[in-house]
Amino acid sequence: MALKIRVLASHGPLRRGTVPPLVYRAEAYEEADRFRERMWGCAHDHESVEHAFNCGVEWLNDQSDETAVQMA
Ligand SMILES: [Zn+2]
Repeated sequence: MALKIRVLASHGPLRRGTVPPLVYRAEAYEEADRFRERMWGCAHDHESVEHAFNCGVEWLNDQSDETAVQMA
């Protein structure tokens, strides 16, 4: 099973007089899944695509003991 990370953008909470900023969330899906159903999603409001993507990659690394061993 190969999981992939994607980043979704959405509008943050509305504030009076300002345009709501975009926030980004990481999601993981299975590469082989033709529907790309969400397997996991982070619960943060990241301010940039990079932050969200890194969050997803960290989660992905935590899922595999094999990866942890290789990185040690
Ligand atoms: Zn996150």
